[in-house]
Amino acid sequence: MSDKKYPRIILKRGKEESILRNHPWLFSGAIQSIAVSSKDSRTNGDSLSDGEVVDVYSSGGKFLGRGHYGEGSIAVRLLSFKDVDLDQRWWEQKIETALQLRRSLQLVDSSETTCYRLVHGEGDGLSGLIIDIYGSTAVVQCHSVGMYNSREQIKDAILKAFGDRVTAIYDKSSSTLPFAAQNQIKDSYLYGKNSGQEEVLENGNKFLINWEQGQKTGFFIDQRENRELVARYSKGRKVLNTFCYTGGFSVYALQAGATHVDSVDSSARAVELAAENVELNFGGDAPHSAIAIEAFEHLKNMDQSYDLIILDPPAFAKHHRARGNALQAYKRLNARAMQQIKPGGILFTFSCSQAVDREQFRTAIFSAAAIAGRNVSILHQLTQPADHPISIFHPEGEYLKGLVVYVE
Ligand code: SAH
Repeated sequence: MSDKKYPRIILKRGKEESILRNHPWLFSGAIQSIAVSSKDSRTNGDSLSDGEVVDVYSSGGKFLGRGHYGEGSIAVRLLSFKDVDLDQRWWEQKIETALQLRRSLQLVDSSETTCYRLVHGEGDGLSGLIIDIYGSTAVVQCHSVGMYNSREQIKDAILKAFGDRVTAIYDKSSSTLPFAAQNQIKDSYLYGKNSGQEEVLENGNKFLINWEQGQKTGFFIDQRENRELVARYSKGRKVLNTFCYTGGFSVYALQAGATHVDSVDSSARAVELAAENVELNFGGDAPHSAIAIEAFEHLKNMDQSYDLIILDPPAFAKHHRARGNALQAYKRLNARAMQQIKPGGILFTFSCSQAVDREQFRTAIFSAAAIAGRNVSILHQLTQPADHPISIFHPEGEYLKGLVVYVE
């Protein structure tokens, strides 16, 4: 039992069901009233500040959980369904549990893979928090003010779990916090400091990661296992890697013996990074071209010589409202790739939009095949890797969907 008194959020009648089933999000529409304690100098009412710790109670007065209050439509991100203090020990246990899971995946202290996700938000019971490990650097990305306010505790918990295996902890929350909070903060080191980049290994392949300048935390760790599958199909094939960013898929394809790889991204910086990573692994004369061009333009103008095409676009739908347009975009993109791929070609196609579910994505690929007029079969159905776990109570945590299809 916690001795501390937190402000209480009292739900409307019947709105406790999802929390009783351990769902970590409480939507603002479920709230009946907010009560701050009598010792609190605030008067009752809507005086909660973004990020503060609150308790959630049913209309009948039953304690349901404790979490971070937020001003958006997710009013509380629940962190515990028990009446326990969210003190330093609690943080240490959460981080240690997350590390233990990655140990069981054999990702910790591996000589082949030195980057992995340590904390994947709700999948690790820490809604609003992402932590990625790059060699001896931990990159923390907070998606809620509550998590950002807890960054000192998070830092100390990382240090406790890792000891001197972590030499720097970088906070990169300025682009991921709710909009109002973004302007008030600057990304910075919470612990140690280094050059801002490090060479890491992923399945033995080398990548130079720059967490200060790069997209997200610097690398798309979530494609690790799907890149291995690309390697399995790349030998002797001509490969097109669209939306290549740092060239993850390209490096694996070349390692596996692709005859040629074209890496395409609309960002000139991204294709530069892809070229650098290819050089890092294979020197200057690998059969690789880095092309800065809009992906659809490339697909429209290319010939029919690619045996394997990868489509890994950014999230087209960030909100449910954008889902319709996103599905259209997936359809157009995939139809074009299917029209132009060599007969007997293999297409790896992905969606990382949380608002698009597996069925909807598959339907978009079905429509694309119909438009392309090619015979298409599904070979593999892909998802995010195990260091991006999905809480059984929070199915929304499944965001990465992929299909590998054979185009006759
Ligand atoms: N496949 C990558 C991750 C892709 S992230 C990996 O394995 O690491 C999405 C990438 O798409 C970003 O690098 C972004 O610059 C690029 N991008 C966004 N819109 C684009 C467009 N219209 N055409 C080409 N690239 C685009």
